[in-house]
Amino acid sequence: MKEALKTKALVKQFDGVRAVDHLSLSFPQGKITGLIGPNGSGKTTCINVLTGMLPIDGGAVIVHDAHVEHMKPYDVLGYGMTRTFQTIRLFEQMTVLDNLLVVLTERGVGSALFERHGEYHVKKAEELLERVDLLKKKNELAVNLSYGQRKLLEIVRAVAVNVDVYFLDEPFAGLFPEMRKIVIRVINELVQAGKTVILVEHDMTLIRELTDYVFVLESGKLLAEGTPEEVLKNKEVVDAYLGE
Ligand code: ADP
Ligand code: MG
Repeated sequence: MKEALKTKALVKQFDGVRAVDHLSLSFPQGKITGLIGPNGSGKTTCINVLTGMLPIDGGAVIVHDAHVEHMKPYDVLGYGMTRTFQTIRLFEQMTVLDNLLVVLTERGVGSALFERHGEYHVKKAEELLERVDLLKKKNELAVNLSYGQRKLLEIVRAVAVNVDVYFLDEPFAGLFPEMRKIVIRVINELVQAGKTVILVEHDMTLIRELTDYVFVLESGKLLAEGTPEEVLKNKEVVDAYLGE
């Protein structure tokens, strides 16, 4: 199976703590791979190093067969990857529509704010907002949205970018069932379009429902891997969660 991204013996440490401890992971193209494990097990750090937000301390990162150990955040789109943040990051004082236009026009905040947007981009942004039921909020400032709406805006902003690999860091956290359904649909649409999704999620029902393969982390190390059925009947995995 073709891999979109893989790591070999990846290491990231903070002072004494090895947040990522020799992880060798592979993410097949067009599949949803789950990244699970108790709080503090290194899931977010993994995404941070794979998107160039933090330098790595060892090991290899391979994107479509190219080594990219020294990636910077501004390189990530060029390598065909994007992400969402566990703690939502929006342009708070911009409207919902402008939050999307910034990404769609790919020119950074300054020009997106002051330029007149082509009808094409506005139409595209509105279509995306419609997909997550946020079109009615398009002229609200991001800061004024509800938590769930903010979460959806963060997700649709990632999806607005046409890349190969999407890292979603707890996209369902704190969402009510109606909004969870929207996120499930958005993720399924990505996969139908042949995209690669890396999903961090604590709800094992969702992991079972959505993922093809799962890596389980504990204290930065790989505790188990396999299909969701395989890993969720693994006693060590169950114990790691109950020990939380
Ligand atoms: P998870 O996402 O699985 O909950 P994290 O990747 O956020 O776990 O954290 C893994 C470990 O790394 C934790 O012990 C955390 O305290 C530590 N850590 C994460 N980011 C930093 C940082 N920027 N500085 C210092 N320690 C960090
Ligand atoms: Mg995290």
